[in-house]
Amino acid sequence: MTNTATEINSSTEVGASVAATSSATITFADFGLDPLIQKAVAEQGYNTPTPIQAQSIPHVLAGSDLMGAAQTGTGKTAAFVLPIIQKILRHASNSASPARHPIRALVLTPTRELAVQVAENAASYSKHTDLRAAVVYGGVDMKEQVAILRNGVEILIATPGRLLDHIGSKVANLSQVEILVLDEADRMLDMGFLPDLQRIINLIPAQRQTLLFSATFSPEIKKLAQSYLRTPVTVEVARQNAAADTVKQIVHMVSSADKQRAIVKVLEARTRAGLSRQCIIFTNSRLGCAKLSRALERDGIKAGAIHGDKSQGERTLTLDAFKSGAIEALVATDVAARGLDIPDMPCVINHELPYNAEDFIHRIGRTGRAGSKGDAIALVDPSEKRLLDDIEKLMKRKLDVKPLPEGAPSYSRPASGGSSAAPAKMADPFFYMPYEPGAATASSEQAAMPDTKKVGITPAKPAVGALLGGFKKK
Ligand code: AMP
Repeated sequence: MTNTATEINSSTEVGASVAATSSATITFADFGLDPLIQKAVAEQGYNTPTPIQAQSIPHVLAGSDLMGAAQTGTGKTAAFVLPIIQKILRHASNSASPARHPIRALVLTPTRELAVQVAENAASYSKHTDLRAAVVYGGVDMKEQVAILRNGVEILIATPGRLLDHIGSKVANLSQVEILVLDEADRMLDMGFLPDLQRIINLIPAQRQTLLFSATFSPEIKKLAQSYLRTPVTVEVARQNAAADTVKQIVHMVSSADKQRAIVKVLEARTRAGLSRQCIIFTNSRLGCAKLSRALERDGIKAGAIHGDKSQGERTLTLDAFKSGAIEALVATDVAARGLDIPDMPCVINHELPYNAEDFIHRIGRTGRAGSKGDAIALVDPSEKRLLDDIEKLMKRKLDVKPLPEGAPSYSRPASGGSSAAPAKMADPFFYMPYEPGAATASSEQAAMPDTKKVGITPAKPAVGALLGGFKKK
């Protein structure tokens, strides 16, 4: 093992943190993971651990509780899933008896999408072992989940409400859980899951290891950690409330009425620049999301909507279509998009600014992932000036305001506190170079993540239904 692990301070005080250290000299072999796990990691194409992996895995293996501050796209899932598999591998059994497969590790996530992604990772990383992984979440029929839980599963990934349903009907039993993970804990609190979390945690033996991951460490998160973690080590790989350095952020001042047209122009400009048109477009409401998606389709853009009124099946179909490239613009609300793992997303567009500045960071965290470059474009109506101010305050930086591409109406940025929109002259098309075509495939700044993936959309992952039945593998 290299000395990275010793560079991390153990802390008895929640909130003490460790700055990111280079993981360049660490390899997966250094962790002493079982060859069956290493084989699965190699098959994923991962060469080098990411900083959060390099810093967290040794602590988790050593049995410490841990608070991880990590942005989306940093590789945090493998940072907890890999050592969990290693730690419970001693229980692996090929017996068919459910009694030989109690839940040993529980991962709680705020959304079904994140739950599915974590489960996909757990299934991939454990595929050469006899451990079983499964996912349960609400909004779908219980029956299939009940059958899987009754069969026995060592690694369970769940959203809190549905897990409580299964516990209530005595299908899930947490009395043998050794490791608990609270993933995207900040979002779980935002979504009002605290009472559910408390009920669930109280059913887990006190002699457990608890890992908490969160994009931000708010006072509420620290309080949660104080209640449920024991002398946790804190690992932080990115500045809090900061976006990845690989994300180029641009603001276009544009009236609400012109935003849809602005999106068309932005996509046309990307085509002209030889860039991918694949983008996620964030809206604040379900209705706005559905309307925008339909309007873009009328404009000839291959669009699909993903929001809370869509069934799980519809969401999965849309997401698969997006990943395969059949849809180029995925119009989404925050809750639906939370935790979507779409590596190397080239562009995120904020159709409206979110009311909560932290949501902006989560939104733009969909791009620039895995160290690739991304564009985050915000379309800002003058009436949203206050929201923009909040975001800039949180990120401690001013965002670049650029004119819109040719043909789209543009407004100058109102002075602080002002809200009137004065039409400005058409933007000069030659001034519009925000996307730096050459940079889209450059790898020189790929610092956040080892360069093992190419820019572009990865093939669709297995559908949720497939996952529910199977994690197995061989
Ligand atoms: P996460 O932050 O866990 O959502 O991971 C973001 C993306 O990074 C996922 O697509 C992972 O498959 C990928 N990833 C995780 N670990 C590594 C690694 N060591 N090298 C390259 N890619 C990775």
